[in-house]
This record gives sequence, structure tokens and C-alpha cells, in this order.
Amino acid sequence: MMEQFILALDQGTTSSRAILFDRQGKIRAMAQEEFTQYYPQPGWVEHDPRDIWRGQLKVGRLALEQLGIKAEQVAAIGVTNQRETTILWDKESGQPVYPAIVWQCRRTAEMIDGIVADGWRETIKARTGLIPDAYFSASKIAWILEHLEGVREKAERGEILFGTVDTWLIWNLTGGVHVTDYTNASRTMLFNIHTREWDPELLELFRIPACILPQVKPSSCIYGKTRDFWFGGEIPVAGAAGDQQAALFGQCCFQPGEVKSTYGTGGFMLMNTGKEAVSSESGLLTTMAAALGEEPAYALEGSVFVSGAVIQWLRDELRLLDESPDSEFFAEKAKDNGGVYMVPAFTGMGAPYWNQYARGMIVGLTRSTSKAQLIRAALEAIAYQTADVCRAMEKDAGLSLKSIQVDGGASKNDFLMQFQSDILGAVVTRPACVETTALGAAFLAGLAAGYWESLEEIKKLWAVDALFKPMMEEDKRQALLADWHLAVECALHWGERKK
Ligand code: ADP
Repeated sequence: MMEQFILALDQGTTSSRAILFDRQGKIRAMAQEEFTQYYPQPGWVEHDPRDIWRGQLKVGRLALEQLGIKAEQVAAIGVTNQRETTILWDKESGQPVYPAIVWQCRRTAEMIDGIVADGWRETIKARTGLIPDAYFSASKIAWILEHLEGVREKAERGEILFGTVDTWLIWNLTGGVHVTDYTNASRTMLFNIHTREWDPELLELFRIPACILPQVKPSSCIYGKTRDFWFGGEIPVAGAAGDQQAALFGQCCFQPGEVKSTYGTGGFMLMNTGKEAVSSESGLLTTMAAALGEEPAYALEGSVFVSGAVIQWLRDELRLLDESPDSEFFAEKAKDNGGVYMVPAFTGMGAPYWNQYARGMIVGLTRSTSKAQLIRAALEAIAYQTADVCRAMEKDAGLSLKSIQVDGGASKNDFLMQFQSDILGAVVTRPACVETTALGAAFLAGLAAGYWESLEEIKKLWAVDALFKPMMEEDKRQALLADWHLAVECALHWGERKK
């Protein structure tokens, strides 16, 4: 038999990618295409759903071409996607009724303020695990139904379908299978993560007819087969998960207490909490994790708004760096931070502080402060912020972290990873395959299709690139953290004047 592969379709916010993995979990082909972002008004963000579908199909075909293989050699397709982004389309024609409203879009912020003022915050948090926000799909669906003529009536007659990007892609791939997975459903703010059903009361609150919603299925199961003309043969579509949950799975964080931390533009930390949906007291979200079979799995999620982006800022605005990776050289050169702390609260602070008025701060400057120390302070800030989210997770989950798995662009910085390990007092593990999101989708699909047998088999494929162990003395760690927290207070205090 000819060699078989798994095709991961990784539909991100700015680009669509397709990766072919082999049985060893190695990347054998990859194609990528960026697509247009639309900003029709300040704070609004849209995509064209047809761009998303066509681009994703194109890169999928390109990946097969690159490796010179036919559809029969693809054992299954796994889909992973930008989460929360909302698409409504006509069931008959397959045409979107409106552009995709992207997760970043703030157009429904006032609608959410109204719902919170009406006292819905606790109910929404208890049922969906989410803190009410325009970020999630619910208010975006409501907006489309409210603002487009005739769409509500058609929706009520069952002629309109809703989907997040996974649903839209699977519907197009299969020619009409209308499904989503638990992880994506849990980001709509309409899904009760405990009963694992769409919540009738929340649907009523947002005036959304239940008939437009997809059927919710596990993240690893055969949803349907692709139409034969897309790839020149039918391929089972067998896995789906939102990007962060796919990365958690791709990092093989299958056990409760296992954590992955992504250092991209922003930072995302997810902790597997197993069968228990842990409610956060520290501003973290409770969400569904990808798992095998019908058994539910949950995760705690915390985000840092500015992570690798602070290095981008040093590079592009302050011009202290030619390239982001050069930050490592300067940080090592500095030897220490010289008492300088940088709080990159450019857009307020996320978990666990949740303060939208806080602004960036550099404290501890002296006449001898060097460029290298400023750069070092920026890298250290990435690690401190992640440590703060980590501590909040430990508190919520009632356990102490021994190790975390990392990915994302800035995780390639060895200084940052060693400092992260030191400041957390935990082992930091960087995997050989940094495409953890696509790998997670491939694992989910391959397990459902019988390409891989078990989680144990997959875990053996997961290879380490580098391990960072804590080396810092406890006194020093505590002293640095104390100063960092004082710097954060300054940033929060500065925000007070705006309130
Ligand atoms: P995203 O997927 O969010 O676009 P990436 O995972 O590609 O982001 O990471 C890019 C970010 O990481 C950029 O903000 C960049 O400045 C930062 N970055 C990339 N490489 C390094 C490095 N070696 N050291 C520090 N920061 C880095």
C-alpha cells in the first residue's frame, strides 16, 4: 500500500495553511496563503467567507501537489481554526448572507454592556464558562439577524445556517454536513459546557432561532467525507478543534494539570483540567478541551494581550532591534535588568488583572540604563506576565505546576525560555514540532480514522527540542517578582486617572 498521510487545514486569522503529516508526526508538505482583512469602521473586522473557503481549498490541493500524492493517500483531514468568528449562510445557495464577523470585531460591545447591566454576567459565566464579551459569537449572530433585511425571517423558516469557521469549512468540504465540535461550540457563548447542549435561555436572550445551529460532536470523529471533486477523491473529515485547544492537544497535554503556553503576538495559556470544569475566581475562562470520544474534557484559559508584540514594538517603533531574535543577544549581554521593569500594558492588562485602562510603564531607569537592559526588561516582562497567568491557574485548579510546554514565535528565544523557567520555578519544554496547532488537528483526525491507535502512540511521536530547568535561587526569584508586581501596580495606578 502506498504511504498514507494526514492533512491538517489550519485556518488562522490572517492566513490559511495546509500541512501534510506522516505517521511519525513529521511535516512533509506545507502551503500557505494570506487573505484580505476588512476594516469597514473603526473597531470592526471582517473576512470574506468565500476567501476563507477558496484559500483553504487551494492550499490543501497545493500541499497534495507538493508531495505528489493523490486523495487515496490522505487517510483523513483535520480542521483547526480561528475561534469565535461568525458566518451565516443561505442553506440552499451556500452563499454567505454577510461577511464573517471576526473575533476581534468590537461592534457589539454595547449590546454586551446592556446584557451585563441586566444582570446576566453570572448566569453566562456559570453556563458557558465565559465572561460576557463581544469577542464571542453570540452577539455577532444577533447583530447579523438584527441588521440584515429578511435574514431573521429566513432564519426562522430554517433557511439560514450559522457556523464558526470549522463548521463553514466542513459544510463546504462535505457538501452539506452541518456540524461543529465541542471546543468551537464552547466559544459561542450559547453552549452550556456542563450539559453540552445549546442553551435555550441564552438563545432567547440573543433572539437566535435554534434551527440555524450546527450539531455538536466530539473533536475526534468522522463528520463526513469530502466531495470527490475537491481533491480528486473522497477523504474522511475526521477532526476539528479551535486553534488554542488544537495546540493543547498537539502538545500532548492529555492529563489534568498539563499546560501549554503560546508566545505569539499575544500569549495564550491553557491548562487541561480533565473531566472537571473549573470555575475561575481570577478572570480566567473555562472552556472545553479537545478529547477522544464522548467524554467531556475541560481547560482553563488565560490570555496576555501583548507578548511577542513587545519585541515587535522595540524593533519597529523604538528601532532598538533589526530582528526580533536579536533580542536574545542583547538580553544575555546585559547580564541583569539593572533594576529596570517594563510593563507592556499597551491595551490594558488581561488575566489576572483585567484592567482596560492600564497603560505601559518603564520603571527603574537610571543614567546608566543601557539599551541591552531595556531589551532584557521587555523579554523578562513576557515571562512575568505568563507567570502571573500561571499562578492564577494554579490557584483556580488547586494544583502546583511542575512543567509547561511552549510554542509560538518567541518560544524560540532561549534566554526567554530559561528566564520563564527560573521565574516560574518549573520546567519549560519546547517541542521539536512548533506547528502544534496543525499537529493537534492532525492527531484528532488520525485517531478517529484509525491512522494512529492511541494517545500513548501519539505521545511517543512527540519529540523535545529543548528543556529549560529552573536555576535561579529562590531569594532572587522572590525579589524580582516583588519588583515586577510593584511595576504592575504603577501601570494600573496610571490607569486610575482615566476612570
Ligand atoms: P502570531 O502567530 O501571533 O502571528 P508568531 O507565533 O509568529 O505570532 O510570533 C511572532 C511574535 O513573536 C512577534 O511579535 C515577534 O516579535 C516575536 N518573536 C519572534 N521570534 C522571536 C525571538 N526569537 N525572540 C523574541 N521574540 C520573537
